[in-house]
Amino acid sequence: MREKHIDTVLLSVGHDLPYLTGYTAMPLERLTMLAVHSTGVPLLFVPRLEAPRVQEMPGLFELVPWDETVEPLDLVAQDCSGSSTIAVGDQTWARFIVGLTHRLPGVRWERALEVVGDLRMRKSEIEIAALRAAARAVDEIAGELQSGAIPLIGRTEAEVSADLSQRILDRGHQKVNFAIVAAGENAASPHHHPGNRIIQPGEVVLCDFGGTMNGYCSDITRCVVTGDIPSDVAAAYGVLMEAQAAGVAAGINGVPCEEVDAVTRQIIADAGYGEYFVHRTGHGIGMEEHEDPYMVSGDRRVVETGFAYSVEPGIYIPGKWGLRLEDIVVATDDGPISLNEADHNLHAV
Ligand code: ZN
Ligand code: ZN
Ligand code: ZN
Repeated sequence: MREKHIDTVLLSVGHDLPYLTGYTAMPLERLTMLAVHSTGVPLLFVPRLEAPRVQEMPGLFELVPWDETVEPLDLVAQDCSGSSTIAVGDQTWARFIVGLTHRLPGVRWERALEVVGDLRMRKSEIEIAALRAAARAVDEIAGELQSGAIPLIGRTEAEVSADLSQRILDRGHQKVNFAIVAAGENAASPHHHPGNRIIQPGEVVLCDFGGTMNGYCSDITRCVVTGDIPSDVAAAYGVLMEAQAAGVAAGINGVPCEEVDAVTRQIIADAGYGEYFVHRTGHGIGMEEHEDPYMVSGDRRVVETGFAYSVEPGIYIPGKWGLRLEDIVVATDDGPISLNEADHNLHAV
C-alpha cells in the first residue's frame, strides 16, 4: 500500500475479503466492509445481526458491529477521514461507493486489485493443492463423458447440464459454478445456455463445467461427438489440440500473459480458422472462476510461479458446430504444469 501511495483499502462483497480474513460478506444491502489502513489494526464493519458469523482474529482485524439505526457509511467515512487515496474491491456495490464518494470529497479512488491482486495471483502451495483437488474431480467427470457413461443422445442439453452439476457436487464440490452443454450448432456459441434442444446422433457436444471445492474453483472443457466424427470436425480438432498444447507449454515464468494467447491464436490462424476463434485464450482462476490475470492481447503482466489460469482456445463455425479444449495450468519454477489430466482427444461416444 505504501509503495502505491494507497492509504486505505476497503473490501466488501467479493473474494478479497475472505482471502485476507476468512470471512465472506453476505451479498446483501447491509454493509460489510473491512477498512485496512497503511498503519494500525484493520476494522471490520459488519451488521450486528451478522456479527455471530464472524470468526474473530484478534490482531488481524477488530470487529465493529453496527446497529440497524446507524448509517454504517458514516462510520466508515469517519474511519477514513485521514485518507487521501482509497482503494476499493471490484465487486463493492455502487450504493456503497457512491455513498462514500459523497462523504469523502477530494479522495482519489483506486481499485483494491492494485494491492490484493498480486497476492491473489501468486497461489501458495495450499491454494494449488486445492485447485488440483478440484481439477481431479472434474477430470473424473470428463472421463465419464468421454467413455459414454453420461448418456447424451435423446436427452436435452439442460438434462445433461443437470447431470454434470450433480456429478460436480457428488465429487466434493460445495457449489456448481456452471455446466455448459451445447450441442450441434449451439456449440458455436461459446457461453451457450443449455436449453431444450435434444441431442441427436452425429453431432458435437461441448461441455464446459466447474464448481467451487473448499474455496477454490475447477473449470474444464471437453467435447465429444455422438457417433462418427465428421472429417471437418476432426481436422479442426487436430488444430485445436495442437494450439492448446502449445498454449500450455508457452506459460514459462517471465513470459507475458498475452504471449500465451498469441501462441494459440497463431496456430489456429495459420490453419485458416483465425476468424472463428472469437475469445481470449484464458483467465486466471482461484477463489473466483474468472480472475486476474487474463491470457489476452494487452495483458502484459508476466507469468510467475504460482499463477493459475486456463488455456482454452476454441474454434466456432456459426450454424454448424463449435470446439473448445480447456485445462487449468499452474506456473512453477520448472515450467507450466497442467492440473487437468483428462484425455485431450475428441471421443466418439
Ligand atoms: Zn467461459
Ligand atoms: Zn470453462
Ligand atoms: Zn475457463
